[in-house]
Order: sequence, then structure tokens, then C-alpha cells
Amino acid sequence: MIQITDKAMCCGCTACVNACPVQCIVMRRDKDEGFDYPVANPDICIGCGRCESVCPVLAPAQPCKSVTAYAVRCDSNVGGSSSGGVFPALAKAVIDEGGVIFGAVMEPDMIAGHAEADTLEEVERMRGSKYVQSDMYSVMSDVKEYLKNGRKVLFTGTPCQVAGLNKYLGAHSEDLITVDIACHGVPGPGLWKMYVDALEKRHGARMTSVDFRDKSKGWRHYCFKTSYGQKDVCVKAVDDPYMALFMQDMTLRPSCYSCPARNGRSHSDLTLSDLWSVRNTVPELNDDRGVSGVLVNSAVGGELLRSIDASFMKEVPVDNVMAENGGFAVSVAMPEKRAEFFEGLKVAGVDVYKHMMRYVVRKPLPQRMWRSFRSTLSSMKRRILK
Ligand SMILES: Cc1cc2nc3c(=O)[nH]c(=O)nc-3n(C[C@H](O)[C@H](O)[C@H](O)COP(=O)(O)OP(=O)(O)OC[C@H]3O[C@@H](n4cnc5c(N)ncnc54)[C@H](O)[C@@H]3O)c2cc1C
Ligand code: SF4
Ligand code: SF4
Ligand code: SF4
Repeated sequence: MIQITDKAMCCGCTACVNACPVQCIVMRRDKDEGFDYPVANPDICIGCGRCESVCPVLAPAQPCKSVTAYAVRCDSNVGGSSSGGVFPALAKAVIDEGGVIFGAVMEPDMIAGHAEADTLEEVERMRGSKYVQSDMYSVMSDVKEYLKNGRKVLFTGTPCQVAGLNKYLGAHSEDLITVDIACHGVPGPGLWKMYVDALEKRHGARMTSVDFRDKSKGWRHYCFKTSYGQKDVCVKAVDDPYMALFMQDMTLRPSCYSCPARNGRSHSDLTLSDLWSVRNTVPELNDDRGVSGVLVNSAVGGELLRSIDASFMKEVPVDNVMAENGGFAVSVAMPEKRAEFFEGLKVAGVDVYKHMMRYVVRKPLPQRMWRSFRSTLSSMKRRILK
């Protein structure tokens, strides 16, 4: 029976919940840091061990090497997507074949969760990175049901969600294509809820939408944009405490510091990432609009990628996609002050926004000025190229 004694040993994928034949496992939010963990009921458990055998942490898969890699941009999607807009193009190709798409959405109540779509309109809200762990609900069982009925499925998610799904399903069906995103870690839904409440208090209105990667000031120096009815608030991501602490690796799930699914252990067919090495790899696309680095991990993945309607697709070395990107090779280190940060959030009456601000490490002034200068140059370049 699954029992989480060390929180670093659970990435929250929900494979165990879906695999339990007597449905005795539920996900519960932990009060300390606001992440969800499985809790099994020993009175119902029949001791079959299914939960442990499908767990990507307890029974990790062997690493696989990516076959090839591509720099890709889809002009019609790039503006509304976080990187080069490859995900919507993959989704379109699968929908055209009658398939169903699973991906992360932000619900109107600002809860991130996985949803399904079989029209392009429904795929819209899956676009864009949501920097909070998405609730998987009963998605793994739903995917299994579609595959059983002979429907093609495209599942997108973090490497650990893909790893859990693959372990839960066992044999890989020909109708399933899994796409993961390069991932250095995720903050939890508990902290996100506290931050939404804090922003709503500051702005005196309900948050109606959020874009974690608004590209209006460029892809590299993106903004964090929230809306409160008619009012939009757009700040540089580095100046927003939620985003800054995410990038400082302060607020990530404990399992992210020893990620069980990176380095080819998710067994996804494709991996999508930001091609941060664009300057050296494809300088012709260095216009700050966004480029995807796509790792092809299987023949099926390669076939799907090559079938999409891309404006630019060029094979590049796998190492170039992984370069300058914290989402690949090794897990990030846990910041020294992480425990102190979460402890401070528990103090009664704490001002969440101010508390978070206290832990943001500002870059030295010359570095900030240089960044601002580069950002202005990029905007001018984008305007000239339009
Ligand atoms: C938590 C997180 C951490 C990331 N870290 C890195 C990194 O270190 N390096 C890097 O290169 N890229 C990282 N990315 C991925 C990157 O930001 C892009 O999402 C990815 O390249 C796809 O871009 P796109 O333009 O093709 O698709 P888009 O149109 O932007 O589609 C977004 C895709 O991401 C999925 N997605 C969005 N939010 C979540 C979520 N919370 N959980 C699961 N799936 C989600 C959607 O289902 C969809 O498939 C991260 C993304 C997330 C969500
Ligand atoms: S051992 Fe079997 S019955 Fe018990 S929690 Fe795990 S999957 Fe459920
Ligand atoms: S990693 Fe996934 S399968 Fe393992 S215990 Fe956590 S939720 Fe369950
Ligand atoms: S870093 Fe690893 S454990 Fe953390 S969310 Fe990403 S894939 Fe999951």
C-alpha cells in the first residue's frame, strides 16, 4: 500500500490513484506546502501492490536517448503559445485524424487542471504554460477508456505525469502519443491559491485570467499578466514575486529536486522546450518571438512532428536543444531558505505578497540595466521586422 513518508518520493502524478482496483487512494493537499499527495485507506486496501508497481518514483523506468532534435516555429501559433507554438500544431494534426487531446488548462476559478478536447476551440485554453501543478483528476482512467474504444489520444503534460501515465497503462498503445515539456519543476496549487487571493486583495477585484508567459515585451523577457475584469496588470516576470521565486527554484515540489522523470525516463514520444540556444543554433530565428526545441524520442513522435504545418523546421543537434536550459540534464538544487520560506507562510495574518517579496533575490543593478537595454533592443527589432 502506498504510504508517503518522504515527500520527495512522490511527484503527485496520480498513477497509483487510478491503478487501485478498490479505489481506496485519494489525493489530499498537504497543509505545510500546499502540494497534493496520495493517501490510502488501510481498511479497504487488499494489499495487491498495484499502486507501488505503477509509481514512477518507486519503480522508475530506464532512461531513453532522444533520436533527433528540431528547431521549430509555427507562425500562426507562436504569439499565443509559450515557445514556438508546436503544441497547437500537434493537437490539430491529431484532431484531424479524429483524436482527442489532453492538456493543462486554467479554469475560470484559477485552478489549474488537466482537461480533454476534440475541437481546436477547446484546445485554445490548453495553450501557454501554467506555472502551477495541474490537477490530473481521473484523466489517466479517461485516457485508458478512449484507447480501449480505439480512439487516438494525444496526452501532454510534465515528464512525471507522462511517466506515471505510461506506467499506469503498461503496454504502450499505438493510438497513444505522449508529449512532455522540458520541466525544471512546478509550484503547488496551495501556494498559487494564496497568491491569487493576495493579488485579488491588492487589486480589489476577482482575477479573471492569467498569462504566465505574456510575450508582448518579447519571448526572452516575458511578462506575467493578470486581468481583473476590464483591468489588465502586466509586470516583467522577474519583478513578480510568484514568478521570481519559481525561477529561483524556491517554491517547487520536493520531488523536483530529485526528479524521477527527466533525462528520457518519461518515455514520451516528443519533448517540447524553449530553444534558449537560438542565437547559436538558428540565428535566423533570433527575433524574440519564440522558438521551440523539440526532442524526438520515438518513430511515432517523429512522424507526427513531421506531419504538422510548421513555418520553420530544421534538424539540430540534441545537445543544442538541451543547452542553456535548466529543464533537462540535472535536477535543480533546493535553495537553502526554502523551508524557512514555507514556514513563514504559516504565520497567522502573514501578508503573503510582502513575505514572498522578501525572498526574491534581485540581480545586481548593472545586470538589470543590461537586461533592460537588451529587452528594448529586442522590442525595436520586433517592431522593425513586423
Ligand atoms: C511547470 C513548467 C515548467 C517548465 N519548465 C521549462 C524549462 O525549464 N525549460 C523549457 O525549455 N521549457 C519549460 N517549460 C515548457 C515551455 O514553457 C512550453 O510549455 C513548451 O515549450 C511548449 O510550448 P509550445 O509553444 O509548443 O506550446 P503551448 O501552446 O504554449 O502549450 C503549452 C503546453 O504545455 C502544457 N502545460 C501547460 N502548463 C502545464 C502544467 N502546469 N502541467 C502540465 N502541462 C502543462 C499544455 O498542456 C500544452 O501542451 C515548462 C512548462 C511548465 C508548465
Ligand atoms: S495495495 Fe492495492 S488495494 Fe492497496 S492501496 Fe495499493 S492498489 Fe489499492
Ligand atoms: S509518484 Fe505518482 S504513483 Fe507514486 S505515490 Fe506519488 S502519485 Fe502515486
Ligand atoms: S521537475 Fe520532475 S518531478 Fe518536478 S514537476 Fe517536473 S517532471 Fe515532475
